[in-house]
Amino acid sequence: MDTTLQKIIQLCKKRGFVYPNSEIYGSMQGFYDYGPLGVRMKQNIKDAWMHWMTQEHDDIVPIDGSIITHPKVWEASGHIQNFTDPLVDCKSCKKRFRADHLVEAFLSKDEKDDSESRIARISHVFKNHTIVCPECKGELTPVRTFNLMVETTLGVIEGEKRKTFLKGEACQTIYLDYENVQRSMRKKIPFGIVQIGKAFRNEITPGNFLFRQREFEQWDLQWFTHPDEMEKWFTYWKEERMKWYKSLVNHKDRLRYRQHEPDELAHYAKIAFDIEYKTPFGWKEWEGIHWRQDWDLSRHSQFSGKDFSFFDEKTKESYIPWIVETSGGVDRTFLFLLLDAYTEEENRVVLKLKPSLAPYKAAILPLVSNNPEIVTLAKSIHRILQSRFVIDIDIKDSIGKRYRRQDEIGTPLCVTIDHQSLIDKTVTIRDRDTMEQKRIAIKNLHKYIAKHSE
Ligand code: ATP
Repeated sequence: MDTTLQKIIQLCKKRGFVYPNSEIYGSMQGFYDYGPLGVRMKQNIKDAWMHWMTQEHDDIVPIDGSIITHPKVWEASGHIQNFTDPLVDCKSCKKRFRADHLVEAFLSKDEKDDSESRIARISHVFKNHTIVCPECKGELTPVRTFNLMVETTLGVIEGEKRKTFLKGEACQTIYLDYENVQRSMRKKIPFGIVQIGKAFRNEITPGNFLFRQREFEQWDLQWFTHPDEMEKWFTYWKEERMKWYKSLVNHKDRLRYRQHEPDELAHYAKIAFDIEYKTPFGWKEWEGIHWRQDWDLSRHSQFSGKDFSFFDEKTKESYIPWIVETSGGVDRTFLFLLLDAYTEEENRVVLKLKPSLAPYKAAILPLVSNNPEIVTLAKSIHRILQSRFVIDIDIKDSIGKRYRRQDEIGTPLCVTIDHQSLIDKTVTIRDRDTMEQKRIAIKNLHKYIAKHSE
């Protein structure tokens, strides 16, 4: 595994961002728990997305749909039939692999023929080469498809339990609630519905920490438009989303678009672009922008009998709205932002996170821990500021050590309380990135932190 990723995994565990799930029982592949700092940071990321979607744009409203839905939803959505990945098993060690990933790794750059489709490439390579198990070099089974939906059962009487599914993609409840939202909020086309929600996938090879999990969160926008305006809105949202991701990262050159090949498209998409980030393990998808057309509403109409046509009072036209989807991963965002922010400098590691996303907005550090007056003043400043901001207070160890600890978790400001603070009611404030220090009055701290935590 890449060393930067390894360092981030260690930092996440040591500093309370993310822990492996069920670690005392040997962990569960593809499942993670967020610790105290991770919860703060993830919430900041989600708040930023929700704010940008619903307050920086007009006509977008949020919902929060349930994880379990009527099982018919997944028949109508096409997931039961089509939500598959190509799978091979190792006959010796019994490990499972994604055939497409093995092919990508097997072919050198020069051998990749971009004129060949993805599926054709997989079959071609497996037919013409002997690809062995990457773990034990054993023989692999032929390629077959594997459904990613996670099943569960509901019901209290044994024998009468009903099979259903956990959400394979969070957005399905948006289609189910489309008409309720449109009517209750008196929305006219075009308008959007957004949701942040959990998704579950029986991924064949979860890995790269939070990148590929079996339980994760997605954020989706479903933008409902007249078919004639589909192209305009598709281009608009593709560009808007890229602008937003650029506003979050330090390394803007690590972002790019990648258009899907025709046979790589998900069953619901006619055109798709990924916004990708250059990770230490290659260019990877961050968010998908999908031209879903009328696939979802028409299919749910067909399976449920409900007519989803929208009647335009002005033009007297009735039509099924088409959909532009932007669908990204919250946990992937969390990981990519850590990768983007992680910086090693002489004598310190710094997380150069956007201040608004950092777990703490500031840390209060009494210069010495053995002066009760200084510690009391530090605690009272912490108490006052904490009602507005998420603020840390750190009393133990040398001031240098405490600065390093805060740098490592991305705290943008450190506020040091010293002897002079007792006399003139001022404190030293230190900037995480420049390490510059200046003195400001305690009464101005509130304003200063608000201004520097955007
Ligand atoms: P991939 O090609 O990486 O499997 P996908 O194309 O299947 O992703 P979508 O179905 O478009 O992904 O899901 C939208 C977003 O959800 C992705 O862009 C990604 O950020 C996130 N996502 C998808 N699968 C996972 C996963 N297993 N773990 C974490 N995040 C995921």
